[in-house]
Amino acid sequence: MAVINVMEDIVRERLDIFLSGMDCCQCEICKGDMMAMALNMLKPKYVNSHKGELFSRIDSSKYQNTVDIDIAVTKAIATVSSSPHRS
Ligand SMILES: [Zn+2]
Repeated sequence: MAVINVMEDIVRERLDIFLSGMDCCQCEICKGDMMAMALNMLKPKYVNSHKGELFSRIDSSKYQNTVDIDIAVTKAIATVSSSPHRS
């Protein structure tokens, strides 16, 4: 049995989109910090991955454009990039 948090995929996706237009450090450490921080601000959305990729894809497109996610990701980028490698 495997349970996954759909928000992880969405946040990773949004993070990459936001970072592609930015100048801050984008190493694995910073991106990991940003992801963790953004995910902690958001309500997790767990799905049983046994239901397959399709389910999580439908689900993720439903959540993809919510403002909350963008706000969390933006905040996380701002916080981490203001003091990279220190958390
Ligand atoms: Zn870095």
